[in-house]
Amino acid sequence: QAKSKGKNNYQFYTDKDEKKAKRRLTMEVGLRRALEKEQFFLCYQPQVDIATNKVTGVESLLRWRDDQANIVSPFEFIPVLEDTGMITGVGEWVIRESCRQGVAWEAENLNLKVAVNISIRQLQVPGFVKQIETVLNETGFSANKLELELTENLLIEHIKDTSNTFHELHDLGIKLSIDDFGTGYSSMNYLKRLPFDTLKIDRAFIKDIMNDQDDAAIANAIITLAHSMDMEVVAEGVESSPQLGYLKQRHCDIYQGFLCSPPVNHHLISDLIANYPTSLIDSHSHSVS
Ligand code: C2E
Ligand code: MG
Ligand code: MG
Ligand code: MG
Repeated sequence: QAKSKGKNNYQFYTDKDEKKAKRRLTMEVGLRRALEKEQFFLCYQPQVDIATNKVTGVESLLRWRDDQANIVSPFEFIPVLEDTGMITGVGEWVIRESCRQGVAWEAENLNLKVAVNISIRQLQVPGFVKQIETVLNETGFSANKLELELTENLLIEHIKDTSNTFHELHDLGIKLSIDDFGTGYSSMNYLKRLPFDTLKIDRAFIKDIMNDQDDAAIANAIITLAHSMDMEVVAEGVESSPQLGYLKQRHCDIYQGFLCSPPVNHHLISDLIANYPTSLIDSHSHSVS
């Protein structure tokens, strides 16, 4: 009986693996034509200056509407783009579209910084810096309003082959940001060697910041670290006003999260800024646990 159970389990996993492999292959095939079919689009999530409660920038987040008109999560399709090398072309489109939108907002008198997620694979392509320069020239967006976000994990592995690229980008005036900070490897040596401007506290530490002392301690340490190295600090995934109140008290610079807005269409960014409430911080927030 144990044997047949084991066999069933085995069967169960192979079926699941096969399903996953099929799904992946279908995605890969779909993604190959997604750019030309104009199935990619960007959503934007506001970044709010905590001290002034002003929206000072946005983060661009990529979406894919597949052939069945399903919106696929980047958690699913970004790894496929990275493994197949397609991220290079799609990533360039994301940068260009983000800069173009940044200039379109300027025409509406909205002065917004635009943060774009970048895969390490993009940085490894020779001519990446030139590519960005070309996009900036062609769109007319200022380098110092463009921020590139990179996750920590692969940075350390590739510090040698990407260090020059980071310095060249920095020299152009482009801002560099470390995404999901605190979740990757704990070596922080690269902070000293690479010209980063911003640390983003991963939302895993923000979620229970009001109740979990360890999470609060880590968030506080990241804020202190960032400020002592002259970097800005952004809190990701802020969903409640007590969380925001806490971060304000700790002098965190910027926040992003559902409390202000989820990622939305560019029109809604303009509307949101026009109608933005003066304060999302509940003055009683500290007395509520
Ligand atoms: P990320 O860069 O860390 O982006 C933040 C993610 O958290 C976004 O998920 C956003 O929708 C979500 N989020 C924001 N505020 C809240 C909140 O208050 N609560 C909760 N629960 N979630 C919140 P999204 O848009 O699904 O993106 C997932 C990841 O995909 C991004 O994480 C980023 O690593 C990657 N990604 C997205 N667009 C691109 C892109 O153009 N290029 C690359 N290379 N990666 C991208
Ligand atoms: Mg990001
Ligand atoms: Mg993040
Ligand atoms: Mg994240």
